[in-house]
Amino acid sequence: MERYDIVIVGAGISGAVLAERYASIGRSVLVLEKRGHIAGNCYDYIDENGILVSKYGAHLFHTNDEEVWRYVNRFAKWYDWEHKVLAKVDGELVPVPVNITTVNKLLGLNISSEEEMKAWLEMNRLHIENPKNGEEAALSKVGPYLYEKIFKHYTKKQWDKYPDELASSVLDRIPVRTNYDDRYFSDKYQALPVGGYTLLFRRLLSHPNITVKLNTDFFDMRKYIHGYDKLFYTGPIDRFFDFKYNEKDKLEYRSINFVSETVDAEYFQENSVVNYPGREVDFTRIIEYKHFGNQVSDKTTIVKEYTVDEGEPYYPVPNEKNMKIYEMYRKEAEKLSDVHFVGRLANYKYFNMDQAFKNSLEVFRKLQFDELLKAKRRIVTSNHYI
Ligand code: UDP
Repeated sequence: MERYDIVIVGAGISGAVLAERYASIGRSVLVLEKRGHIAGNCYDYIDENGILVSKYGAHLFHTNDEEVWRYVNRFAKWYDWEHKVLAKVDGELVPVPVNITTVNKLLGLNISSEEEMKAWLEMNRLHIENPKNGEEAALSKVGPYLYEKIFKHYTKKQWDKYPDELASSVLDRIPVRTNYDDRYFSDKYQALPVGGYTLLFRRLLSHPNITVKLNTDFFDMRKYIHGYDKLFYTGPIDRFFDFKYNEKDKLEYRSINFVSETVDAEYFQENSVVNYPGREVDFTRIIEYKHFGNQVSDKTTIVKEYTVDEGEPYYPVPNEKNMKIYEMYRKEAEKLSDVHFVGRLANYKYFNMDQAFKNSLEVFRKLQFDELLKAKRRIVTSNHYI
């Protein structure tokens, strides 16, 4: 096999950013992608109804990070899109994150100011200092009623674990609002790429120094790949080490079964995402892609998401048991000086998209800095001998 300076396993955010960065400084880059397409879980395409849909679930970009925002703007035009989520609770559609409207609708109250909402939360939330799991985190923010209606069973469906079996960080992702703000995120930049994410990835990877091989599993090729300076691995960390520490307990990931349907109507639901936090259905949410960017079609595509154990690994499951297993792999990974583990699956961490961009930009910067230092040391040492 031809020699490349940099070999990257995976053409998702982490892999594509590193490929672009190394190509831009003149290094030859090989990207190996197991799937038949680039863009990882951000992959989107136009479906049979003429609607831009995401194959692996809706991806809403949001960030407060200036560097990441500048970087992504080099490869796509972005249009403002503030994501909103409604949840169907007892037949009523209510905003998530919880805000004044959520509480008023579910409890038949008439809260009308931030002060009243704060007072309601103070009366109803449980005062738990340093919540030690997801249940305590949610109870200390919203109290038992909303916990039961919005978080407890949704989390069980999503993770196959109740919130008390998960790290508090999982439920801490969702804020509680004391006003009427019904945006899902409050970041400074909230936007979607014009033409979709796949186009953005095509641009990231279009450099002449980059070769992308699709439908190519690194583990089938491993023995033929030699002579690189650096290898970046963005897949599941346990797979890299042949699952050697999974004997007693396996490192868990959650996967999603996406069930798509065409509905012969202009719209199916009033919002892009409707969560179903109750036990009455098995799916967690329904996405109606047409809403994103206000797309036009005489039909509509909806996708129900069922979270499952088996299948493509999407979400690492942050709890103590998994973190212990992950730690064994991490130590093993640390010993390999020319292999770098980057991204959500290789770091076993629940990254948002902007964090994945940031992580790759930082890894690149750090490695470049280390190389500069090494080069400097070489010059100093060689001068010494002269
Ligand atoms: N969650 C919930 N009810 C909801 C929305 C979220 O219980 O209506 C919990 C659930 O445990 C979920 C976590 O909050 O996994 C984080 O939600 P987020 O929307 O960030 O998950 P993602 O979009 O990454 O699947």
